[in-house]
Amino acid sequence: MTELKNKVAIVTGGSRGIGAAISLELAKQGVKIVLNYVSRPELAEKMVAEIQEFGGEAFAVQADVSNSDDAARLVQAAVEHFGKLDILVNNAGITRDSTFKKLSEEDWRKVIDVNLNSVFNTTSPALQHLLESDGGRIINISSIIGQAGGFGQTNYAAAKAGLIGYTKSLALELAKSNVTVNAICPGFIGTEMVQAIPEKVLDGIVAKIPQKRLGTPQEIGRGVVFLCKDGAYITGQQLNINGGLYM
Ligand code: NAP
Repeated sequence: MTELKNKVAIVTGGSRGIGAAISLELAKQGVKIVLNYVSRPELAEKMVAEIQEFGGEAFAVQADVSNSDDAARLVQAAVEHFGKLDILVNNAGITRDSTFKKLSEEDWRKVIDVNLNSVFNTTSPALQHLLESDGGRIINISSIIGQAGGFGQTNYAAAKAGLIGYTKSLALELAKSNVTVNAICPGFIGTEMVQAIPEKVLDGIVAKIPQKRLGTPQEIGRGVVFLCKDGAYITGQQLNINGGLYM
């Protein structure tokens, strides 16, 4: 088991939803958190305050991870502030759902940029620091949609499936080092992203989930803690946290 106290983690999109829960669950283990957000500083500062309230260490960095200069600045801020980097959680993501016939080039590119290209942008400057850690972890938050596809989600499914191939290939390249690379594929989790789905459609989705409920952000956060703490011999995998919706 890896002792997580005093490890340093960057969580992209850590200000709300799944990223906020990942940040909290890691912080409860004593991990120092660099909490990234893009547009809503008030939510990021609220999360930082919540972590500091129970004695944890965290600070927020505004950066658009689809922009390589911003992503490099994020990694630099983490290393300058805490002196090292052990865990990179690539969680930031967006949807711009539309059937393919109506899908604009802008929405195609935006979703690929934020969900997939961002991972290149953050991992490139972070990698050397992770290799210097005595147990580096890269965790990419993919999605059940990258595995099963989703109606009106060609852009999102392409990005999330891309993350899975990326995870396996990077895991192979880093397997001889001390860095593991894994993906988590959440099913439908109760966050703003899912609240944007019309109620009737969401009811239909929940009816199809074998466990008959949405997942919670905390359940994804605990998956991240598991991979960080007990995952030394787990690499290149997809951890499916989806209530049995995709097996
Ligand atoms: P969410 O509630 O919409 O939160 C998205 C987070 O990402 C926010 O912190 C947001 O920051 C940040 N973000 C968005 N664009 C960014 C950018 N360009 N640069 C940096 N940060 C950015 O989303 P969520 O539901 O928690 O989803 C988190 C991840 O899980 C995503 O990758 C999503 O695709 C994946 N996922 C979600 C579900 C689900 O059911 N919710 C299922 C499977 C996978 P601001 O608040 O500053 O905008």
